[in-house]
Amino acid sequence: MRLEDRTCLVTGASKGIGRGIAEEIGEHGANVVVNYRSSEDAAYEVEELINEGPGTAMVAQADVSEFDEVGAMCEAVRDEFGAVDVLVNNAGITVDKKFENMTREDWDRVMDVNLGGVYNCTKHCFDDLREAHEGRLINISSVVGQQGNYGQSNYAATKSGLFGFTRTIALEMAYHGSTANCVAPGFVETDMLAEVPDRVRDQILERIPLDRFAQVEDIVGIVRFLASEESSYMTGQVLGVNGGMEW
Ligand code: NAP
Repeated sequence: MRLEDRTCLVTGASKGIGRGIAEEIGEHGANVVVNYRSSEDAAYEVEELINEGPGTAMVAQADVSEFDEVGAMCEAVRDEFGAVDVLVNNAGITVDKKFENMTREDWDRVMDVNLGGVYNCTKHCFDDLREAHEGRLINISSVVGQQGNYGQSNYAATKSGLFGFTRTIALEMAYHGSTANCVAPGFVETDMLAEVPDRVRDQILERIPLDRFAQVEDIVGIVRFLASEESSYMTGQVLGVNGGMEW
C-alpha cells in the first residue's frame, strides 16, 4: 500500500480524522496537502510531522465552502506537487438543533461546508482525478447519514447526500479507471464528539455493539487502502466503520 509519488489532498487535516488520515498517508510516502480553515498552528504541526517521515507535506489554507479559495488552493498544490491523484473530502461541521429550532442559517452553513465544500473541491480537482493513473475520490460521510440522529437533520442530510454524489461520480469517472468511494465512520473521539453532552454520549454508546467509540486510528487504515492501487476494483461503495451499528 505504498503511496509514493501520489499527491493526496486532505481537507480539514489540521485536526481529528483528517489529521489522522494525512499522517497515515504521509507515513506511506505520499505528497500530502494539509488543508485547514482556521487552525493554522495545528496544520503546520501536521506538516512538520509528515516531513519528518517518508512523506512530503505542504499546508494549504482554504475555507472549502468558498469556491474561489479552493481554486487558488488547487493551483498552489499543482505548482508544488503537480496534479492531484487522491482527494479526501473530510472537512465537515455540525450545527446541532432539533428541527423545530433549526434556522435557515443553521441549515445553510452545514450544507455550504459539508456538501458545498465537497462540490468545490471535487470540481477543482475533477480533471486531475479523472486523468490520473488510478485517481481516487474519497468522501468522509457518517453513520448519521445512514441512521439519522436526533438534532442533526442538517448534518444527516449532508452525509446521506454524499452517498448519491459518490455513486454518481463513480459512474462518471469509471471509464477513466478512477474510483470514488465513501467512508461512513461511526462515532469517533474527536473535537466534534467532544461537543456532544455526556447524557447523549451514553445513549449513543448503548447502540454500539463493540461497546466503545472509535479512535481516529480505527478509521485511517481504510482510507489508506482506498487511496492505494489495491482498491482498484472497488468503486461507488459506502464502507461503514462503526463498531457494528446497524443501518
Ligand atoms: P473535527 O475534529 O471538528 O475537525 C474538523 C476539521 O475540518 C478541522 O481540521 C477543521 O479545520 C476542518 N474544517 C471545518 N470547516 C472547514 C472549512 N470550511 N474549510 C476547511 N476546513 C474546515 O472533526 P472530525 O470529527 O475529525 O470530523 C472530520 C469528518 O469526519 C467530518 O466530515 C465529519 O462529519 C466526519 N465524521 C466525524 C465523526 C465523529 O464522530 N467525529 C463521525 C463520522 C463522520 P480548522 O480547525 O482549521 O477550521
